Amino acid sequence: MKRGTHIIDIPKKVVVGYGVIEEAGKFFREVYPRESRALVVLGPRIYDMYFSRLKGSLEAAGIEVDYIIVREASVDEAEKVAVTARETGAEVIVGFGGGRSIDLAKYASRNSGVGFVSLPTVASHDGITSPFASLRGFNKPMSVPAKSPDLILIDVSIVASAPRRYNMAGFGDLIGKLTSVRDWKLAHKLRGEYYGEYAASLALLSAKHVAAYSREIAAGTVEGLRVLLEALVSSGVAMGIAGSTRPASGSEHLFAHALMMVAERKPLHGEAVGLGTIMMSYLHGLKWRKIRGLLRRVGLPTTADELGVSEEEVIEALTMAARIRPERYTILGERGLTREAAEELARKTEVIGRR
Ligand SMILES: [Zn+2]
Repeated sequence: MKRGTHIIDIPKKVVVGYGVIEEAGKFFREVYPRESRALVVLGPRIYDMYFSRLKGSLEAAGIEVDYIIVREASVDEAEKVAVTARETGAEVIVGFGGGRSIDLAKYASRNSGVGFVSLPTVASHDGITSPFASLRGFNKPMSVPAKSPDLILIDVSIVASAPRRYNMAGFGDLIGKLTSVRDWKLAHKLRGEYYGEYAASLALLSAKHVAAYSREIAAGTVEGLRVLLEALVSSGVAMGIAGSTRPASGSEHLFAHALMMVAERKPLHGEAVGLGTIMMSYLHGLKWRKIRGLLRRVGLPTTADELGVSEEEVIEALTMAARIRPERYTILGERGLTREAAEELARKTEVIGRR
């Protein structure tokens, strides 16, 4: 690729609505007029609940369907998916489920050079639409370039029946854009890093949009859920426009990744991001109490205790955060926080020390 070349990788078609799974074959045909073999990647629970409906819809459109049941989001598992795709002659890989199945399908489709359809069953994070996959096995918890879905199919009735905790985690992931965008701008100013105003605005808009609709989202109304889903789609698209996870992942994500590494009881990604956003917004001089209020409104954890992690784990994650991905410059600086600074930050924002 020549210097100065910028590639934008975004979905061709996004469908959000009721009964979308029954129409999957029709939308598949619109995006892939010639492809006729699909491999569906899914977990055992989604297989039991929804696979026959999806299969029926795809087969009715003349598409041959194979499937692979996956259990963990690791590079090895993604390799298995790619091998199965080759063996079955799949021309399109469909990720059907939460983060795991989608990340595996996304990564395998890039490596196999075939199409990719994202069919999320929860609204828990923006990976459902982004061209990046987070998989274990790269010795660091971070996202690797994968592929933007050609087609995103979101069946609102399926997402609405997912556990509330998972969908609210998506709200936490989106609120994180309030600090990630600031971190990006900071890296641009201090490091001369590429900064895309449009992608940054789009990511920020997705956070502001869910903030404005936090009451509807908290109440679990259809409108609230739609706003949440559309904001997740926008945030994923912002990453596709930027060509990196920069607009959607800053210091709050570094903290969340670090916490996932040290915590004995793992919180959901979006829950950890939400908690991180409270602390990072304090560092950025934003109205952290207001941000905390938004998280509380939808019932997301705002203290270590509520998140189910220890105060020590929060402090450790804060001190580690900047070092797990040194090339990603954020408000945490190059070396990150000292133990004392980390403890003070967590205490001042009442993440620890209040029982
Ligand atoms: Zn995230």
